[in-house]
Amino acid sequence: RESWASDSSDSVISSGSDSEDHVFKVILLGEHGVGKSSLARIFGGVEDLHDVEEAGNTYDRSIVVDGEEACLLVFDIWEQDDNHWLHNQCMKMGDAYVIVYSVTDKSSFEKASELRIQLRRARQSEDIPIILVGNKSDLVRSREVSVEEGRACAVVFDCKFIETSASLHHNVKDLFEGIVRQVRLRKDSKED
Ligand code: GDP
Ligand code: MG
Repeated sequence: RESWASDSSDSVISSGSDSEDHVFKVILLGEHGVGKSSLARIFGGVEDLHDVEEAGNTYDRSIVVDGEEACLLVFDIWEQDDNHWLHNQCMKMGDAYVIVYSVTDKSSFEKASELRIQLRRARQSEDIPIILVGNKSDLVRSREVSVEEGRACAVVFDCKFIETSASLHHNVKDLFEGIVRQVRLRKDSKED
């Protein structure tokens, strides 16, 4: 079990950031039930004992990645309601996207591909970081999507890939650190 919420000494500074430049807007996409809110809550350091169905939440937190502070604003609002305006907004506003599926649900994996295509359409000429996330890796017996399938999909869609388990807190820290690195890589190459 990784300690993400508890290692406040070095990897987490505080909420909020002074410099706009360091605020990265991260949007969680994916079908209902794949674990978006669970991942977001772990990131936000909120650990509820039981699941709460919330309308939508945004988590604001600074983390240190490779010795440099970054503030992430994580939006868990995709399912807030079925409104096209909101979905369009989501597709436009992100600096990075996390497309989540459940490894125990093949249809959520197919949905992830659809979302990737929608995103490409909405942000045609832009090179935005996208991470494909296969969540619920702890549910070994009910797995329907293999690691290889996930990885192959990410290659086709030209994005990063990681498997996580929100339940075990496995790879959740790596996921959010990976996003920061991806955003920075693109910023650096633009500045050169
Ligand atoms: P959302 O609809 O995408 O926001 O998904 P939730 O975060 O609400 O999670 C849906 C259900 O899956 C909840 O009952 C969670 O406890 C459960 N869940 C989420 N992540 C995991 C995981 O990594 N492993 C297991 N076993 N269950 C998970
Ligand atoms: Mg949710």
